[in-house]
Amino acid sequence: MTHLIELGYAGFEVSDPAAFETFLDREVGLVPGDDPHTWRTDQKVRRIAVHEGERNDAAYIGFEAVDADAFARTVERLRAAGADVTDGTPGDAKARGAADLAWCTAPWGTRVELVHGLADADTPFASPLVPGGFRTAGMGFGHVVFGVSDLAASHEFATSGLGMEQSDWLEMDMGGFPFEVRFYHCNARHHTLALAAVPFDLPTKLHHFMLEANTVDDVGAAFDRVFAGTQPIASGLGKHPNDEMFSFYAVTPAGFQVEFGTNGRTITEPWTDNRVYDRISTWGHQPIARPV
Ligand code: FE
Repeated sequence: MTHLIELGYAGFEVSDPAAFETFLDREVGLVPGDDPHTWRTDQKVRRIAVHEGERNDAAYIGFEAVDADAFARTVERLRAAGADVTDGTPGDAKARGAADLAWCTAPWGTRVELVHGLADADTPFASPLVPGGFRTAGMGFGHVVFGVSDLAASHEFATSGLGMEQSDWLEMDMGGFPFEVRFYHCNARHHTLALAAVPFDLPTKLHHFMLEANTVDDVGAAFDRVFAGTQPIASGLGKHPNDEMFSFYAVTPAGFQVEFGTNGRTITEPWTDNRVYDRISTWGHQPIARPV
């Protein structure tokens, strides 16, 4: 598929910003941006912004179009698909470190922004805790997974609106209930967005965001840092069958999770592997209890 957009940034509304940002800093290993409450994972001026509030959820996610033409085409596509797209002001774009911004609300309730010209920081990215850095070039800064009560409308928004293509999907029984997740790509990253069908609107839409490190050692070191801390480890080290990501999941102080992984599969063209999977993990991803 044509690479028009990638995940540019996310804004998280959290009730305890100090705890959340300490976690990003000391356990995940991100680097503070120039503006307060912003965090970097690469050369971009910011990838994560933290806002104080009661939602403990993604306040917004931002897709970065590769250029002004891709920006215009994506806005047009969203409008043609029925999304109510608002043109941002120059101030809105500047607040995100971008040249231009438009936004709409996804069917599951999250504000979805589209920008182009996301600025680079003045200084090179270097994280002492993640020396190998994160894999973002041509792929965006990671992926996000939301629980949605209207999977059909959300699927339409992702595909017809944002122009993503379905990579594959998961159907399994979870404690006697059918569970379905669909995975979508918009560039070489196996999935930039995944949507999990939930039977009713959950208070928190974001299940997790994913950061992909360049090395296995950086994933292992991150696991050790989180293990030494106090946040729950929802899923220990393991591997997914569809995106082949080797990763673990920690519960952030905001309640939603962060997946820290490496070695994710990339999309090859033509993509002929849009098929169903019947399990989340090939192995691992077990809940981890610490010794008392
Ligand atoms: Fe994930």
